[in-house]
Amino acid sequence: MPPRQNPLLNQSPGLEKVATLLAVSSCKGGVGKSTVAVNLASALKRSGARVGLFDADVYGPSLPTVIRPAHTDLFSRDELILPLEYEGMKVMSFGYVPHAPGGSGAAIMRGPMVTQIINQLLTGTEWGELDYLIIDMPPGTGDVQLTLTQLIPLTAAIIVTTPQELSFVDVVKGIQMFDKLKVPTVAVVENMAYFACDDCGKKHYLFGTGVRQRLVDQFGIKNSFEIPLVPDVSRLSDAGTPIVLEKPDHPVSDVFRRIAESAIAEIRHLREDGGGPPGVRFVIGRGVVVTWPDGREQDIDPAELRRSCRCAHCVEEMTGKRLLDPASVPADIYPTEIHPMGNYAVAIHWSDGHTSSIYPFDLIAGLENS
Ligand code: ADP
Repeated sequence: MPPRQNPLLNQSPGLEKVATLLAVSSCKGGVGKSTVAVNLASALKRSGARVGLFDADVYGPSLPTVIRPAHTDLFSRDELILPLEYEGMKVMSFGYVPHAPGGSGAAIMRGPMVTQIINQLLTGTEWGELDYLIIDMPPGTGDVQLTLTQLIPLTAAIIVTTPQELSFVDVVKGIQMFDKLKVPTVAVVENMAYFACDDCGKKHYLFGTGVRQRLVDQFGIKNSFEIPLVPDVSRLSDAGTPIVLEKPDHPVSDVFRRIAESAIAEIRHLREDGGGPPGVRFVIGRGVVVTWPDGREQDIDPAELRRSCRCAHCVEEMTGKRLLDPASVPADIYPTEIHPMGNYAVAIHWSDGHTSSIYPFDLIAGLENS
């Protein structure tokens, strides 16, 4: 899907001159979402872009901890709040607003109030001309986040996760939430992916590996990044300086730079392309017909596509061994439901009752025309 154009943008004077709003989101708290948001903003700034950072986490604003602007008094002009400045970036957080409903107050606020308040602070801030406004979303994929995604004219999203068992499911939930509102997920960051030992130099994957590969295999998301658990990251955060600014030559700073570069490239690509995933439909007599963005059509034999399913029921995750017996797929099988999964894959339910097939478009492109 193309980067989202939102008519609300014109009704938000503070946001009028912001070219790109990029959400940094996570399913759970404590996975490093704010750390990624602030370092990503810093990396974009270092690349020469005009950058803002909005901490939308009304429940637990973390910006006042992870960065220290020289002044934190807020002033307004023409009914808009002037953002604070930090290292050439414009920043705003509930943590800077006196008597803001942060902390325990926010916990008892109902969803609609929370989203209204977040939206008011975002649209009531005079952001000025910005290339990128990074939005540090409140953690979760519930009603608050969904409403915010609806209210805020987001261009695209980045999802942050950790490598624990449930994180893959979390990422899927995140992609689906943004999908509902046509916000493309342009990158996935696996934070605290491993611990790099100072003594032996080895990478210790304490929680296992594989999340990123599954994202590539199942969702076609190629822009996924691993960030190790690095004591310097949290030490510098606690001291109020993002590692990208304090130690630009640190290998972790390099990962943040690559995340920034890939997000820039992906958003540009989506804009230039007119964007949009290929169209997929079932046509009796032709099979599954894929219409690629350049107008080319590919007809695929449904049984062949069903046999190519790489879900956990059809292919053993660890070994890659095929579990589906190709002979068990009926020759007259057909899709009962087809719907896009993010920008890079399509989900298909089949007439044999199989409902967990997700095909990255890269995989489909490699299948033969029937
Ligand atoms: P969230 O925004 O998801 O709640 P934070 O960004 O506040 O999470 O991070 C939670 C804690 O983990 C913070 O103390 C932060 O400094 C630390 N942290 C985040 N990422 C890393 C990392 N890669 N290595 C070490 N500590 C990290």
